[in-house]
Amino acid sequence: MSMCRPSYPGHAIVVHTPCFLRFNGSVHGTEDWRTMVAQHYVFGIDVDEQTRCAHYHQSFDVIAIKHVCCERYYPCHLCHEVLADHPAEVWPVERFQELAVLCGVCELELTVTDYLATNTCPGCRAEFNPDCKLHRENYFATNYDLR
Ligand SMILES: [Zn+2]
Ligand SMILES: [Zn+2]
Ligand SMILES: [Zn+2]
Repeated sequence: MSMCRPSYPGHAIVVHTPCFLRFNGSVHGTEDWRTMVAQHYVFGIDVDEQTRCAHYHQSFDVIAIKHVCCERYYPCHLCHEVLADHPAEVWPVERFQELAVLCGVCELELTVTDYLATNTCPGCRAEFNPDCKLHRENYFATNYDLR
């Protein structure tokens, strides 16, 4: 795990299993950036290997959420606020069948619909923080019926 942790100055960390890369500053528009998006890098502050971040770091804070505005995974909306150069947008209901949630434990991607319907990962049974759904308006449109 520690084998590939180059340490650049700064707090913005990009995580990719099994390599954890640390970045300082923006990588927008570079080849690296496109590769990172394709490989489910998670952009955030003090991201650990299960996508916990500086803001949400309890044992069950193990999901990252793709932000529809930039198609990038962030551990939370606060990380997006700090690191992205644009305001966050939420997933519209008509795109809830797209993969938008990453389990930080097994790297399974869930659709918005599947995520909203469960509190555990369908892939590895890791428990997700149920409180995350209290903030779901930060990520997903709320003009729908959850049940
Ligand atoms: Zn964004
Ligand atoms: Zn965060
Ligand atoms: Zn999982």
